[in-house]
Amino acid sequence: MRILITGGAGFIGSHLCDLLITKGHTLVVVDDFSTGSRANVQHLAQSEVFTLVEQDVVAQPIVMDGPLDAVIHLASLPSPVDYLGNPVQTLLTGSTGTHHALELARAKGARFLLASTSEVYGDPLVHPQTESYWGNVNPIGPRGVYDESKRFAEAMTMAYYTKYDLDIHIARIFNTYGPRMRLNDGRVVPNFCRQALRNEPLTVFDDGSRTRSFCYVSDLVRGLYALLLSEVHEPVNLGNPQEMSILEFAQLVIELAHSQSEIAFSAADGDRTTDDPKTRQPDITRAKEMLGWEPQVSVREGIATALAWFAERV
Ligand code: NAD
Ligand code: UDP
Repeated sequence: MRILITGGAGFIGSHLCDLLITKGHTLVVVDDFSTGSRANVQHLAQSEVFTLVEQDVVAQPIVMDGPLDAVIHLASLPSPVDYLGNPVQTLLTGSTGTHHALELARAKGARFLLASTSEVYGDPLVHPQTESYWGNVNPIGPRGVYDESKRFAEAMTMAYYTKYDLDIHIARIFNTYGPRMRLNDGRVVPNFCRQALRNEPLTVFDDGSRTRSFCYVSDLVRGLYALLLSEVHEPVNLGNPQEMSILEFAQLVIELAHSQSEIAFSAADGDRTTDDPKTRQPDITRAKEMLGWEPQVSVREGIATALAWFAERV
């Protein structure tokens, strides 16, 4: 297949590129490098089957010569630090950016995959979260700019299925981590790994009792690929159900990094913890049954690998 990937120079996108190249596909990445980088895909730059185009998918429609078999729309500002600082661009990337990506897929008769998020469930009142749950999102809260942009993107994607019969797929991605995350992107995995490797205090916000479930990136991109090739048009949760509190996670990172760091319980800056989901765990029954997919990398194993990568950059 010839596949166009928006946001393909980002963390998840670059790992997806690696997988797709090994599967024999030809790739065009469209990225504005707002949170991604050329460095993430530098190793592919000389490949005949890889093209990198610098473009903001909000600013103008995506125009591409030649046939396309698939469009994968990852462009977004997913780190809370990024979307809280860029609320309007975040909303536009989920709305106008998604519209542009869908129009390209429609023009080319290409299948389409949207990277959605567990944030569509907001601060969930159902646990673990199944795809049938509609969520608990504050539309005018600070996180709403990201959550609602993805909820709109899902609605728009589904409208192209019902109106135009486009071959669409929606992945609801839960917290994913691994090499190529930016050390300073503000998310908890790079924060704790950086702090532990420097023997600095780990900044656990509030009492650390909120929970998350962390998925290693190689598992996640396998799931995205399986979904892209599938006949499944309903949203599918992709994540690792191994749930833990943020305090437990901090202790695990300290142990695996052999760090002298202490835990610093602290209030977060600004809006960071307003509407912060108290719990999060994917129910992955649908992915197991319909895609034959489940994670294979344990959190201990994945964090150890991520720490080794971060250690070279700290
Ligand atoms: P990332 O920030 O590394 O990747 C996003 C990429 O999109 C970057 O390369 C960035 O430069 C690009 N981009 C942003 N706005 C753009 C625009 N207007 N035009 C062109 N390119 C643009 O983040 P990631 O973690 O790799 O996330 C990838 C996708 O997965 C996103 O859609 C995100 O919402 C989704 N997701 C990620 C997680 C996670 O835990 N990592 C969880 C849920 C959903
Ligand atoms: N968090 C924390 N310390 C940090 C960064 C994050 O305690 O230095 C918490 C944050 O409040 C949230 C969880 O870790 O409850 C996950 O945050 P992250 O930004 O990684 O992702 P989210 O799941 O909120 O999008």
